[in-house]
Amino acid sequence: MKKTKTILVLFLAVCLAAFAAGCAKNEDVEEVEPEDQANLKIYTTFYPIYDFTEKIVGDNANVENLIPTGVEPHDYELSPKQMAKIYDGDIFIYLGESMEPWASKIAEDLSKNGVKVLEVGTDLIENNDPHIWLDPVLAKEMAQKIFEVIAAEDPEHEEIYKENLEALLKKFDELDKELLEVTSKSSKKDVVTSHGFLDYMAKRYGFNQISIAGLSPQDEPSPKKIAEIADICKSKNIKYILVEKGSSSKLPETVANEIGAQILTINPLETLWPDEIKAGEDYFSIMEKNLDILRQALEYEGQ
Ligand SMILES: [Zn+2]
Repeated sequence: MKKTKTILVLFLAVCLAAFAAGCAKNEDVEEVEPEDQANLKIYTTFYPIYDFTEKIVGDNANVENLIPTGVEPHDYELSPKQMAKIYDGDIFIYLGESMEPWASKIAEDLSKNGVKVLEVGTDLIENNDPHIWLDPVLAKEMAQKIFEVIAAEDPEHEEIYKENLEALLKKFDELDKELLEVTSKSSKKDVVTSHGFLDYMAKRYGFNQISIAGLSPQDEPSPKKIAEIADICKSKNIKYILVEKGSSSKLPETVANEIGAQILTINPLETLWPDEIKAGEDYFSIMEKNLDILRQALEYEGQ
Protein backbone atom coordinates (compact mmCIF):
# COMPACT_ATOMS: atom_id res chain seq x y z
CA MET A 1 0.00 0.00 0.00
CA LYS A 2 2.73 2.36 1.02
CA LYS A 3 4.71 1.46 -2.10
CA THR A 4 1.70 2.16 -4.29
CA LYS A 5 1.29 5.55 -2.62
CA THR A 6 4.94 6.40 -3.32
CA ILE A 7 4.52 5.50 -6.97
CA LEU A 8 1.39 7.60 -7.13
CA VAL A 9 3.22 10.58 -5.60
CA LEU A 10 6.09 10.11 -8.02
CA PHE A 11 3.64 9.88 -10.88
CA LEU A 12 1.98 13.11 -9.78
CA ALA A 13 5.36 14.80 -9.45
CA VAL A 14 6.26 13.81 -13.01
CA CYS A 15 2.90 15.10 -14.20
CA LEU A 16 3.40 18.40 -12.40
CA ALA A 17 6.88 18.74 -13.85
CA ALA A 18 5.54 18.06 -17.31
CA PHE A 19 2.74 20.55 -16.73
CA ALA A 20 5.23 23.15 -15.51
CA ALA A 21 7.37 22.50 -18.57
CA GLY A 22 4.27 22.93 -20.67
CA CYS A 23 3.61 26.25 -19.01
CA ALA A 24 7.18 27.35 -19.53
CA LYS A 25 6.85 26.41 -23.18
CA ASN A 26 3.67 28.47 -23.45
CA GLU A 27 5.49 31.44 -21.97
CA ASP A 28 8.18 31.04 -24.63
CA VAL A 29 5.53 31.11 -27.32
CA GLU A 30 4.00 34.23 -25.82
CA GLU A 31 7.37 35.91 -25.79
CA VAL A 32 7.54 35.53 -29.57
CA GLU A 33 4.21 37.26 -30.05
CA PRO A 34 5.22 40.85 -29.18
CA GLU A 35 7.53 40.73 -32.19
CA ASP A 36 4.55 40.15 -34.42
CA GLN A 37 2.78 43.03 -32.71
CA ALA A 38 5.88 45.13 -33.30
CA ASN A 39 5.04 45.10 -37.01
CA LEU A 40 3.62 48.43 -38.07
CA LYS A 41 -0.14 48.60 -38.51
CA ILE A 42 -0.90 50.85 -41.47
CA TYR A 43 -4.37 51.93 -42.58
CA THR A 44 -4.97 53.27 -46.07
CA THR A 45 -8.18 54.75 -47.46
CA PHE A 46 -8.51 53.52 -51.04
CA TYR A 47 -6.91 51.22 -53.57
CA PRO A 48 -3.88 52.91 -55.22
CA ILE A 49 -2.57 54.11 -51.84
CA TYR A 50 -3.09 50.60 -50.46
CA ASP A 51 -1.36 48.94 -53.44
CA PHE A 52 1.67 51.28 -53.38
CA THR A 53 2.00 50.84 -49.59
CA GLU A 54 1.76 47.05 -49.84
CA LYS A 55 4.41 46.97 -52.53
CA ILE A 56 6.77 49.04 -50.36
CA VAL A 57 6.38 47.10 -47.10
CA GLY A 58 6.00 43.55 -48.43
CA ASP A 59 5.61 41.19 -45.45
CA ASN A 60 7.24 43.56 -42.98
CA ALA A 61 4.16 45.51 -41.92
CA ASN A 62 0.40 45.04 -41.83
CA VAL A 63 -1.54 47.13 -44.32
CA GLU A 64 -5.32 47.32 -44.30
CA ASN A 65 -7.49 49.18 -46.78
CA LEU A 66 -10.55 50.88 -45.27
CA ILE A 67 -12.90 51.52 -48.18
CA PRO A 68 -14.40 48.15 -49.20
CA THR A 69 -13.82 46.67 -52.63
CA GLY A 70 -16.18 47.88 -55.33
CA VAL A 71 -17.10 51.00 -53.37
CA GLU A 72 -16.42 54.34 -55.01
CA PRO A 73 -14.50 56.48 -52.48
CA HIS A 74 -15.65 60.01 -53.44
CA ASP A 75 -18.61 59.92 -51.04
CA TYR A 76 -17.72 57.06 -48.71
CA GLU A 77 -18.33 57.34 -44.95
CA LEU A 78 -16.46 55.14 -42.47
CA SER A 79 -18.25 53.02 -39.86
CA PRO A 80 -17.61 53.82 -36.16
CA LYS A 81 -15.86 50.44 -35.87
CA GLN A 82 -13.46 51.32 -38.68
CA MET A 83 -12.89 54.73 -37.13
CA ALA A 84 -11.87 53.06 -33.82
CA LYS A 85 -9.45 50.80 -35.69
CA ILE A 86 -7.59 53.73 -37.26
CA TYR A 87 -6.99 55.17 -33.79
CA ASP A 88 -5.33 51.89 -32.83
CA GLY A 89 -3.00 51.90 -35.85
CA ASP A 90 0.51 53.32 -36.25
CA ILE A 91 0.13 55.09 -39.60
CA PHE A 92 -2.90 56.42 -41.47
CA ILE A 93 -2.51 57.36 -45.13
CA TYR A 94 -5.13 59.23 -47.16
CA LEU A 95 -5.08 61.32 -50.32
CA GLY A 96 -6.67 64.64 -49.40
CA GLU A 97 -9.84 66.55 -48.70
CA SER A 98 -10.96 66.42 -52.33
CA MET A 99 -11.10 62.60 -52.20
CA GLU A 100 -11.85 61.67 -48.56
CA PRO A 101 -13.30 64.72 -46.77
CA TRP A 102 -14.02 62.55 -43.68
CA ALA A 103 -10.31 61.73 -43.38
CA SER A 104 -9.13 65.31 -43.34
CA LYS A 105 -11.67 65.97 -40.57
CA ILE A 106 -10.06 63.39 -38.25
CA ALA A 107 -6.41 63.88 -39.32
CA GLU A 108 -5.52 66.38 -36.62
CA ASP A 109 -7.16 64.38 -33.85
CA LEU A 110 -5.40 61.20 -35.00
CA SER A 111 -2.05 62.98 -34.82
CA LYS A 112 -2.84 64.16 -31.29
CA ASN A 113 -3.53 60.54 -30.38
CA GLY A 114 -0.16 59.33 -31.56
CA VAL A 115 -1.10 58.06 -35.03
CA LYS A 116 1.29 59.16 -37.77
CA VAL A 117 -0.87 60.73 -40.50
CA LEU A 118 0.20 61.15 -44.13
CA GLU A 119 -1.91 63.26 -46.49
CA VAL A 120 -0.19 61.96 -49.58
CA GLY A 121 -1.80 64.41 -52.04
CA THR A 122 -0.34 67.51 -50.35
CA ASP A 123 1.55 69.65 -52.92
CA LEU A 124 0.53 67.23 -55.69
CA ILE A 125 -3.24 67.89 -55.96
CA GLU A 126 -4.22 70.90 -58.08
CA ASN A 127 -7.66 72.55 -58.44
CA ASN A 128 -9.26 70.08 -56.00
CA ASP A 129 -8.84 67.30 -58.57
CA PRO A 130 -7.88 64.18 -56.60
CA HIS A 131 -7.00 61.83 -59.51
CA ILE A 132 -3.18 62.15 -59.23
CA TRP A 133 -2.52 58.37 -59.09
CA LEU A 134 -3.40 58.04 -62.79
CA ASP A 135 -0.34 60.10 -63.75
CA PRO A 136 2.70 57.82 -63.20
CA VAL A 137 4.97 60.81 -62.60
CA LEU A 138 2.79 61.97 -59.69
CA ALA A 139 2.26 58.36 -58.58
CA LYS A 140 6.04 58.12 -58.16
CA GLU A 141 5.95 61.09 -55.82
CA MET A 142 3.14 59.45 -53.86
CA ALA A 143 5.22 56.29 -53.47
CA GLN A 144 8.26 58.30 -52.35
CA LYS A 145 6.21 60.05 -49.65
CA ILE A 146 4.68 56.78 -48.47
CA PHE A 147 8.16 55.26 -48.21
CA GLU A 148 9.51 58.19 -46.21
CA VAL A 149 6.78 58.12 -43.58
CA ILE A 150 7.00 54.33 -43.15
CA ALA A 151 10.81 54.25 -43.02
CA ALA A 152 10.78 56.98 -40.36
CA GLU A 153 8.38 54.93 -38.21
CA ASP A 154 10.21 51.64 -38.79
CA PRO A 155 13.90 52.38 -39.46
CA GLU A 156 14.76 48.74 -38.74
CA HIS A 157 13.32 47.71 -42.12
CA GLU A 158 14.36 50.83 -44.02
CA GLU A 159 16.71 49.02 -46.40
CA ILE A 160 14.06 46.52 -47.49
CA TYR A 161 11.52 49.31 -47.93
CA LYS A 162 14.02 51.27 -50.01
CA GLU A 163 14.68 48.29 -52.28
CA ASN A 164 10.95 47.73 -52.77
CA LEU A 165 10.46 51.42 -53.47
CA GLU A 166 13.15 51.40 -56.18
CA ALA A 167 11.44 48.44 -57.88
CA LEU A 168 8.11 50.27 -57.71
CA LEU A 169 9.54 53.50 -59.14
CA LYS A 170 10.94 51.54 -62.09
CA LYS A 171 7.47 50.23 -62.89
CA PHE A 172 6.08 53.77 -62.90
CA ASP A 173 8.89 54.76 -65.30
CA GLU A 174 7.92 51.91 -67.64
CA LEU A 175 4.28 53.00 -67.53
CA ASP A 176 5.38 56.59 -68.26
CA LYS A 177 7.26 55.40 -71.36
CA GLU A 178 4.27 53.41 -72.59
CA LEU A 179 1.98 56.41 -72.18
CA LEU A 180 4.44 58.60 -74.10
CA GLU A 181 4.51 56.02 -76.88
CA VAL A 182 0.71 55.78 -77.12
CA THR A 183 0.01 59.49 -76.96
CA SER A 184 2.80 60.55 -79.34
CA LYS A 185 1.63 58.16 -82.06
CA SER A 186 -2.11 58.74 -81.90
CA SER A 187 -4.18 60.64 -84.44
CA LYS A 188 -6.88 61.81 -81.99
CA LYS A 189 -6.21 64.42 -79.31
CA ASP A 190 -9.51 64.22 -77.39
CA VAL A 191 -10.86 61.68 -74.93
CA VAL A 192 -14.39 61.84 -73.53
CA THR A 193 -14.86 60.52 -69.97
CA SER A 194 -17.90 59.97 -67.75
CA HIS A 195 -16.29 61.98 -64.92
CA GLY A 196 -13.07 63.96 -64.92
CA PHE A 197 -10.52 61.33 -63.87
CA LEU A 198 -7.99 61.84 -66.67
CA ASP A 199 -6.97 65.51 -66.39
CA TYR A 200 -3.49 64.92 -64.87
CA MET A 201 -2.70 62.22 -67.42
CA ALA A 202 -4.08 64.35 -70.27
CA LYS A 203 -1.94 67.35 -69.25
CA ARG A 204 1.19 65.23 -68.83
CA TYR A 205 0.89 63.44 -72.18
CA GLY A 206 -0.64 66.16 -74.28
CA PHE A 207 -4.22 65.15 -74.94
CA ASN A 208 -7.49 66.79 -74.03
CA GLN A 209 -10.14 65.38 -71.69
CA ILE A 210 -13.81 66.23 -72.17
CA SER A 211 -15.67 65.05 -69.06
CA ILE A 212 -19.45 64.67 -68.96
CA ALA A 213 -19.80 65.03 -65.16
CA GLY A 214 -17.40 67.03 -62.99
CA LEU A 215 -14.62 65.69 -60.80
CA SER A 216 -16.94 63.36 -58.90
CA PRO A 217 -19.25 60.78 -60.53
CA GLN A 218 -22.07 62.25 -58.44
CA ASP A 219 -21.83 65.67 -60.11
CA GLU A 220 -24.86 66.09 -62.37
CA PRO A 221 -24.39 68.43 -65.34
CA SER A 222 -27.32 70.53 -66.57
CA PRO A 223 -29.18 69.57 -69.78
CA LYS A 224 -27.61 72.64 -71.39
CA LYS A 225 -24.10 71.41 -70.47
CA ILE A 226 -24.90 67.94 -71.85
CA ALA A 227 -26.10 69.46 -75.15
CA GLU A 228 -22.87 71.48 -75.31
CA ILE A 229 -20.75 68.37 -74.72
CA ALA A 230 -22.69 66.48 -77.41
CA ASP A 231 -22.01 69.31 -79.87
CA ILE A 232 -18.28 69.35 -79.05
CA CYS A 233 -18.14 65.55 -79.45
CA LYS A 234 -19.88 65.75 -82.83
CA SER A 235 -17.51 68.47 -84.09
CA LYS A 236 -14.49 66.40 -82.97
CA ASN A 237 -15.89 63.19 -84.46
CA ILE A 238 -15.71 61.36 -81.10
CA LYS A 239 -16.28 57.61 -81.47
CA TYR A 240 -15.82 56.43 -77.87
CA ILE A 241 -16.84 57.48 -74.36
CA LEU A 242 -14.78 56.17 -71.44
CA VAL A 243 -17.06 55.21 -68.54
CA GLU A 244 -15.76 54.06 -65.15
CA LYS A 245 -16.58 50.53 -64.15
CA GLY A 246 -19.60 50.29 -61.82
CA SER A 247 -21.04 53.64 -62.86
CA SER A 248 -24.82 53.87 -62.51
CA SER A 249 -25.11 57.17 -64.35
CA LYS A 250 -27.20 57.14 -67.53
CA LEU A 251 -25.64 60.36 -68.80
CA PRO A 252 -22.71 58.88 -70.76
CA GLU A 253 -25.17 56.57 -72.52
CA THR A 254 -27.42 59.53 -73.35
CA VAL A 255 -24.49 61.40 -74.89
CA ALA A 256 -23.23 58.26 -76.67
CA ASN A 257 -26.66 57.68 -78.25
CA GLU A 258 -26.91 61.31 -79.26
CA ILE A 259 -23.55 61.33 -81.07
CA GLY A 260 -23.44 57.68 -82.15
CA ALA A 261 -20.43 56.81 -80.00
CA GLN A 262 -19.51 53.52 -78.30
CA ILE A 263 -19.04 53.11 -74.52
CA LEU A 264 -15.67 51.73 -73.36
CA THR A 265 -15.43 50.63 -69.72
CA ILE A 266 -12.34 51.77 -67.84
CA ASN A 267 -11.24 51.34 -64.23
CA PRO A 268 -9.85 54.67 -62.94
CA LEU A 269 -8.54 52.66 -59.97
CA GLU A 270 -10.62 54.34 -57.31
CA THR A 271 -11.36 50.78 -56.27
CA LEU A 272 -10.46 47.25 -57.29
CA TRP A 273 -13.55 45.14 -58.04
CA PRO A 274 -14.02 41.61 -56.59
CA ASP A 275 -13.55 39.98 -60.02
CA GLU A 276 -10.30 41.91 -60.45
CA ILE A 277 -9.01 40.86 -57.02
CA LYS A 278 -9.91 37.25 -57.86
CA ALA A 279 -7.94 37.54 -61.11
CA GLY A 280 -4.88 38.81 -59.16
CA GLU A 281 -4.96 42.29 -60.75
CA ASP A 282 -3.10 45.25 -59.31
CA TYR A 283 -2.51 48.91 -60.19
CA PHE A 284 -0.12 48.07 -63.02
CA SER A 285 -2.15 45.28 -64.65
CA ILE A 286 -5.26 47.50 -64.63
CA MET A 287 -3.23 50.38 -66.09
CA GLU A 288 -2.17 48.09 -68.95
CA LYS A 289 -5.85 47.52 -69.71
CA ASN A 290 -6.50 51.23 -69.44
CA LEU A 291 -3.67 51.81 -71.93
CA ASP A 292 -5.43 49.50 -74.41
CA ILE A 293 -8.57 51.59 -74.03
CA LEU A 294 -6.58 54.79 -74.60
CA ARG A 295 -5.00 53.26 -77.72
CA GLN A 296 -8.48 52.66 -79.05
CA ALA A 297 -9.97 56.03 -78.04
CA LEU A 298 -6.97 58.07 -79.25
CA GLU A 299 -6.65 55.96 -82.41
CA TYR A 300 -3.08 54.85 -81.81
CA GLU A 301 -1.22 54.31 -85.08
CA GLY A 302 2.00 52.75 -83.81
CA GLN A 303 2.90 49.08 -83.57
ZN1 LIG B 1 -12.96 60.06 -59.53
